[in-house]
Amino acid sequence: MAFELPSLSYAYDALEPNIDARTMEIHHSKHHNGYTTNLNNAIADTPLADQSIEEILNGLDLENKAVRNNGGGFYNHRLFWEVMSPNGGGTPKGALAEAIDSAFGSFEEFKTAFSKAAATQFGSGWAWLCVQKGGSVEVCATANQDNPLMPGIGCGGTPILGIDVWEHAYYLNYQNRRPDYINAFFNVIDWNKVSDLYTAGA
Ligand code: MN
Repeated sequence: MAFELPSLSYAYDALEPNIDARTMEIHHSKHHNGYTTNLNNAIADTPLADQSIEEILNGLDLENKAVRNNGGGFYNHRLFWEVMSPNGGGTPKGALAEAIDSAFGSFEEFKTAFSKAAATQFGSGWAWLCVQKGGSVEVCATANQDNPLMPGIGCGGTPILGIDVWEHAYYLNYQNRRPDYINAFFNVIDWNKVSDLYTAGA
């Protein structure tokens, strides 16, 4: 069954001024749509066509560049839209907050580590907050459209928060100022959603 571009649960302009409407529209309707179409083309008439995206990524042959790039792109952007909200920002609560404090010392120290991972990812990629079975969390970054579900990628666990640091994610509004975009992203993080993903993955 073919994968479908997921609809956003908010309007393209809903995350302004943190992420502008034009960037959101191009990012979703062009970039994410392209990854979705290219993934479907890459898996058509192969055994992968019957698998979930998580199964495809967990069992990925890293040499299969079409599925690696487009399967990663499909999954990564779907998560990205889900963990942002016009009502986002603030700090996590409950078990996720405790796991962050345990791993990093405080929310502010987590924010510093996540922002550093995102800012120092050379070229295109993503920074992640991941949960391991048992509930511990860690920050890491991956290149291109790789993600922690892929085997041997050097970044483990289930991603529960991700920021896209490809230039297409911020350049129209922020140009070379990636750190400003990263800072703005924290204003739209939906910590309720991230907490749900934490609970599901812990
Ligand atoms: Mn992107």
